[in-house]
Amino acid sequence: MSQHTATERTPMVVADGVSKSYGSNEVLRDISLTVMPGEVLCLVGPSGSGKSTFLRCINHLEKVNAGRLLVDGEMVGYREQGSKLYELHPREAAKQRRSIGMVFQKFNLFPHMTALENVMEAPVLVARVSKAKARARAHELLARVGLADRADFYPSQLSGGQQQRVAIARALAMEPKLMLFDEPTSALDPELVGEVLEVMKELAASGMTMVVVTHEMGFAREVADTLVFMDGGVVVEAGDPREVLGNPQHPRTKAFLGKVL
Ligand code: ADP
Ligand code: MG
Repeated sequence: MSQHTATERTPMVVADGVSKSYGSNEVLRDISLTVMPGEVLCLVGPSGSGKSTFLRCINHLEKVNAGRLLVDGEMVGYREQGSKLYELHPREAAKQRRSIGMVFQKFNLFPHMTALENVMEAPVLVARVSKAKARARAHELLARVGLADRADFYPSQLSGGQQQRVAIARALAMEPKLMLFDEPTSALDPELVGEVLEVMKELAASGMTMVVVTHEMGFAREVADTLVFMDGGVVVEAGDPREVLGNPQHPRTKAFLGKVL
């Protein structure tokens, strides 16, 4: 390998002047940020500041109105040829999206399937992996999130924290290169938050690139490489989480942290 590879690594996520409106409501305004492979970026900010919308744009569940969004060097939803942009065919867009795992506040597991079947579903149906292989891998993933002994349980037989860990295993089953988390612990009873954060911490330590919307400042301080504070659709402040949390520069950051810390 040449000496250059380390410095010329392709960022996993680049947002360059990203804006997004719903009608006249400008939800994201000129968002620019970079996430390098293996990094964890935590996105915090008040409700309605555009955090979920930003994640949805990265995953191409929403289209940006202006600016460029790249995942692993490829424009999200588009192919660049010379100076022209071509919208991806839905099939190509789906393929692009498959390389990104997403975990939501609501776990959305299939209620009629066991934990194991939930984790096997996409690899078998979408990625055409053999059932035997998918099953073996699903067992591994359930073990990884601490649920080896719950493989045959249905979601209704699992706690919220266990369901969310199954949801993480399910996202990992597609071998994503990037994981997006949208307030993964916000719907959980307080005593179940820790077990989910622990799984996310281990995932981060294993080198996964992650963008995490969260109100868990302890997690952000400990795990994030970068903390981004958003308000009103703009990045108000970004940097080392210890710096931003310990010495916030902007009055809006101070006001927000005063409420959540
Ligand atoms: P956050 O996740 O930070 O709470 P959101 O990204 O969910 O913020 O929402 C940001 C703004 O965008 C809000 O004003 C919300 O009402 C608006 N919004 C979000 N999704 C839609 C949608 N599908 N259609 C119209 N407005 C939306
Ligand atoms: Mg949200």
